[in-house]
Amino acid sequence: MKIHEYQGKELFRKYGVPTPSGILALSPDEAEAAAKKLATPVVVVKAQIHAGGRGKGGGVKLAKSPAEAKELTRQMLGMQLKTIQTGPEGQKVHKVYIEQGLDIGKELYLGVTLDRATSRITFMASTEGGVEIEEVAEKHPEKILRAVVDPAIGFADFQGRELAFGLGLTGPTVNKFVQFCSALYQMYVGTDASLVEVNPLVILKDGGVVALDAKVNFDENALYRHKELLEYRDLAEEEPRETQAKEFDLAYIALDGNIGCMVNGAGLAMATMDTIKLVGGAPANFLDVGGGASKEKVTAAFKLILADPQVKAVLVNIFGGIMKCDVIAEGIIAAAKEVQLKIPLVVRLEGTNVEQGKELLRNSGLAITPADNLRQAAEKAVAAIK
Ligand code: ADP
Ligand code: MG
Repeated sequence: MKIHEYQGKELFRKYGVPTPSGILALSPDEAEAAAKKLATPVVVVKAQIHAGGRGKGGGVKLAKSPAEAKELTRQMLGMQLKTIQTGPEGQKVHKVYIEQGLDIGKELYLGVTLDRATSRITFMASTEGGVEIEEVAEKHPEKILRAVVDPAIGFADFQGRELAFGLGLTGPTVNKFVQFCSALYQMYVGTDASLVEVNPLVILKDGGVVALDAKVNFDENALYRHKELLEYRDLAEEEPRETQAKEFDLAYIALDGNIGCMVNGAGLAMATMDTIKLVGGAPANFLDVGGGASKEKVTAAFKLILADPQVKAVLVNIFGGIMKCDVIAEGIIAAAKEVQLKIPLVVRLEGTNVEQGKELLRNSGLAITPADNLRQAAEKAVAAIK
């Protein structure tokens, strides 16, 4: 689960990670009042969307007076903000964060995540802050310092000092940085985060260490033990079909192709998407209906796929192990009738009760294209679109 910058900073403060002062604003008037309250010579108006790269996209602007903050907010609210992370259609701005403008000395990068290769929480730091860290990782991997945390010990101060020296920090800033890292680690572990990125982490002209940006993602599998974090969920920022999928306990990820996929099992779903690509098509989604799906779940899944206006054909690829092919067939038929399916539907069924399933589909009166194997199914789906 992703959250907004202002929410991430709220958590930072709770755990003692230094941040600038800031106030959320939902209207130009609120922005003006917020800027007055902050009473700093400069405030920064920051669009709150679940994507980074806002600065370059026009979503982070300096205001030298409350009136200017009001005007910038008026321009920003409601705009489709396009950044390198939003995709071409951009993301609508519903909220802005009015923040104290800081006197920046140096912009660094600090990230914490679980490195799956070592199964350990890993800190990454770089002097190349404020810019695309992916680009640094690619072109100058030597500029990314790492500290791997021993889970039995936790983040140790010496690791913080090592990073600080590697970043060229000196004097009292070193200890401030170490404290910053320790607090960030406490937050990462305490909230079951999956990623915390501070880009930039700023060294102020007076030597202070402050988080200027906050990107925080949580491990959804651990959310059940963090009821307080659920309040941070902003459904306006999430793909509505993915939200709907969660209600039915379906693993669904929207993609940008035009062949809707309904598959059971994550591995088979990946293989199905790969095969579609291999034969020249593009999958519209990843969807795993799971092992023991009911007719209702299959119907919900089918509707979900069809709710995507980009979908021009549907490919159902089911291996009935625990899942029975006749149940799948019933779900497909019910859903196809309910939504009055008008696009080509290719179905490949295999496994338990496959004959009953095929029989049901044949007698359904629906125009279904059967396929005997995955490759053939993918080819038929691609051909159906052409
Ligand atoms: P994004 O990563 O989405 O572009 P950031 O919060 O990192 O957004 O802001 C982009 C840039 O704007 C920062 O690198 C920094 O130079 C500047 N900036 C952001 N907030 C402030 C602030 N409070 N004071 C001064 N400069 C800021
Ligand atoms: Mg940033």
